[in-house]
Order: sequence, then structure tokens, then C-alpha cells
Amino acid sequence: MTKAYDLIIVGAGPAGLMAAKTAGEQGLKVALLERKKNITDINRACSMMIVTLTGCYLGDRVSINSRDQRLCFPAYGFSIPYEGDHQNFYSWSIYSYKGNKIQLGDYIKNEHMGDEGRISATYDKEALLKSLMKECFKFGVDVFPGYNVIGTQTNNGQVTVFTREGTSFKGTFVIGADGRVSRLAKTLGKNKDRTFYGTSTSYGFEMKGVEPSEKYALFQIFLGEKTPMRIWMTPRADGETYFPFISCTHPGADVKGAFERFTQQGYFASWFKNAEIIRPLCIEGNMYSHIIDPYKDQVLLVSDAVWCQEAEMTGAIISGWKAANAVKYALTEGNISREGVFGYLNWWKKEVIDKLDHRDMIRNAVMPYCLTVDDIDYLFSKITKTLRSILDPYETPKIVGAAMAEIIPIVSKERPDVFQKLSRMKTDPLEEIFMDCKRSGFPNNMRSS
Ligand SMILES: Cc1cc2nc3c(=O)[nH]c(=O)nc-3n(C[C@H](O)[C@H](O)[C@H](O)COP(=O)(O)OP(=O)(O)OC[C@H]3O[C@@H](n4cnc5c(N)ncnc54)[C@H](O)[C@@H]3O)c2cc1C
Repeated sequence: MTKAYDLIIVGAGPAGLMAAKTAGEQGLKVALLERKKNITDINRACSMMIVTLTGCYLGDRVSINSRDQRLCFPAYGFSIPYEGDHQNFYSWSIYSYKGNKIQLGDYIKNEHMGDEGRISATYDKEALLKSLMKECFKFGVDVFPGYNVIGTQTNNGQVTVFTREGTSFKGTFVIGADGRVSRLAKTLGKNKDRTFYGTSTSYGFEMKGVEPSEKYALFQIFLGEKTPMRIWMTPRADGETYFPFISCTHPGADVKGAFERFTQQGYFASWFKNAEIIRPLCIEGNMYSHIIDPYKDQVLLVSDAVWCQEAEMTGAIISGWKAANAVKYALTEGNISREGVFGYLNWWKKEVIDKLDHRDMIRNAVMPYCLTVDDIDYLFSKITKTLRSILDPYETPKIVGAAMAEIIPIVSKERPDVFQKLSRMKTDPLEEIFMDCKRSGFPNNMRSS
């Protein structure tokens, strides 16, 4: 007879592992299903920045306790083991293709201040997953690698989870932590009410020997390509390796050629003259608005599966923890229902839906859809002061937006054409700006990990 679990978790990324560890720690019978054969191998693009060490994100101020190797979430009141390195970075430069830049954070001053001056740090995701896996084993979680979940069915208070491999699992609750292209979100019909903006491709390489203008900084570079494309680059946690990658919302665009042109020609080529490729890392994923109601039939959806683009590692950990606690509470109360898991659903509404406008996140990508690469270069040449730096995907567009607003009187005089485009950027509905991306995107059709 199939063993019945209290909780089945689908997906062993940071959210699923955290949910499994938390539920196991509280004595629940937990199964963790993951389609990868080797759970802790990272084989897809991720910058691995900690969002954020300099501000409040999702109601907490995450911090690193290097002495005891832990990541701490003081407002939520928990910490997790993290036995990996981290690398501080001290500024965020947003470049035009010709090398004009918006500077967030004063690199020299911040580096001199050390931990006090960092805008955040990069971590080692593989090390994080290994630390969480150890916890899962310690707390008796049954881990099933190599199982691709294809759907669920809820009958008489029990959920059956079906896998492509033919094995099914039974549990009282399910947590769907299956990432940005979540099959569970789709099979539960949860994508129907979301706004779809497009499919983004991330294509890049881990490299050694890169020599950027500042050694430990975050770089965002608008490329001089016809199709809008940006480079993101950060140092890895070892302080030696870099991960530059192209982000593009037009599937089928020549990201390979653009990456070669970026590293071999033009303003940034000198950074890569001694660079050596270690390995390619790519991913494609859909850009949706958040799922408003992340619950159906005893299945709770968490983290990237319900987020607009990405929950980030911190959001994944917090939402996995919140959902597992809610399940424990519901089981203890004997309330196997939506009301039973109110702790997670209320948190989702209060901290995510009511506070984070997904449009702020999507707006990060708007500029090259409204302005030419030379317009962007012109604008960046006008913002000469160093701006406040914070690693927060919802806050930074506001800081840059305020700096843009300050130069409007000059722009409207010198370049009325650019001024008009900027106005469009502010007022046109995002759905309209991204219409081409939406048409060429592939909802629900891509790999997530
Ligand atoms: C290019 C890029 C850069 C990023 N940079 C950062 C950054 O700098 N900092 C940061 O914090 N975050 C970053 N993120 C986001 C971060 O990677 C995610 O927010 C985080 O990993 C979400 O965790 P998760 O557990 O929800 O999903 P995932 O990490 O995607 O894990 C989901 C797991 O579910 C498994 N799975 C999927 N489908 C199934 C199935 N049907 N059956 C069984 N298993 C399944 C997958 O194999 C995977 O292991 C970045 C993302 C991208 C794409």
C-alpha cells in the first residue's frame, strides 16, 4: 500500500527544501519530489545575489552570521545553516553601450567600509541547497530525486500526486514549489487570470579572468543591439569567477552572437581580453503578474511558482517556511481546508499582493522598448550624481526614476524627441509596451530549471 504523507512537496529548489526542512523539523511525515536526479547541482542561470543585505524585503532584514555559518531572518524569527562563501559587492553601475553610466553607490568609499559599505553579497546556491538537504535528512524527510510531477487530484481529503515515471504519492497537503514555469500552477488553472508579459531568455557563461572597471560590483549594461538586450554581471561567491549573462525578452533573438559581440568588440571588450569560459548557464521563463490566490484543493503554491518573475532566494526561503508552518498548524487544528492554512494565505496577501506592485518589477525592462540605444546613452550621460544603492528589484527602478525626473527640464529643452518617449514610458500601459514580447512568448512551454 502507498505510504500516506502529511505533506508532499514538489520541487527541491530553495523554497521546496526550506518547506521540507521546516515541516520535518515539526514532526510531519514529508515527501520531497524533485525532477532533477542530483538535487544540489545548479545547471541554470542565477546571479546568486542576496536580496537584500541593505534594506527590508518582504518584511525582514536578512543577514549573514559568518561566525556560525547561518543566514538569519530576524523578523520572522528563524535562521538556516549556510556553509558556503559569500562575496560583498559595493556598487551597481547601469551602463549604456557606449560606456555612460548611472552609478548607484560610491564604489571606493563603500569598499573601504567593508561589510558596512556593501550593497549586498553573492552567495553560493549549490552550498545553500546542500546545507538545506542535510537538514531535510536530519529531520527524516523522504527525498525522491528523478520524479517529474505531472499533476494532482484531490478526493476525500487526500491529494494524489502523479509523476511522469508512473509512481503516485498520497498526502494530506501539497506544497507546489516547482519554480517559475510551474506545472502545478498550470494544471490547477492558476495562470488563467494572470497578465502575461513575455518570455525572457537568460544566456551567459561563468568565466574566470574577467577584469571589470570595479572588481566587486554589480553591472547592468544596455547593449547596442537592435533587439532590446541587457547584460547582468556579478562576481560569484568565490570572488574570482564572474557570471555575465544576457537577458532578452524576444525568444529566438541572436543572444549568442550578441554575447560574442559584447565580449569581443566595443567599450567592454577590454574587460574580457583575458577571460576564460568555465561553463554556460541559461534559462528561459515566463513573465507573469503574481497569482492572487495561491491555494486550491489542499495544494499551496509558493515562491517562483506564484511570483511575478522571481521571488529571489530570500522570498523562496520565507515563503517555503511560511507555507510549511501553515500546513503544520492546519494539521494540528484538524482543519484540512483553506481556512486551516490561513497563516500562509494571509502573509501572501499582506506582504506580497498588497505591498509589491508587479509593475515596478516589470518596469525594470521597459527602457529599451521606448528609447533607442543612443537615447539611453544620451540620458545616462546627463545623470552625473551618484545615487543611493540598494539591492531591491522593486526599489531601484524608483530611485532611477527619481533621478530621471530631475533631468527632465534639460532633456525637454535639448532633446524634445527623447522627452516624448520618456513620457510614453511612464504613461503607456505595460501590456502595450510589451505587446511584441507577449506575441512571441511561450506561456507554460519552457523549462524552468
Ligand atoms: C537569470 C536569473 C538570475 C537570478 N538571480 C538571482 C539573484 O541574484 N538572487 C536571487 O535571490 N535570486 C535570483 N534569481 C531568482 C532565483 O533563482 C529564484 O527566485 C529562486 O531559485 C526560486 O526558488 P524556487 O525554489 O521557488 O524555484 P527553483 O529554484 O526554480 O526550484 C524549483 C525546483 O522545482 C523542480 N521542478 C520543476 N518542475 C518540477 C516538476 N514538474 N516535478 C518535480 N520537480 C520540478 C526544479 O527542477 C527545481 O529544482 C534569478 C533567476 C534568474 C532566472
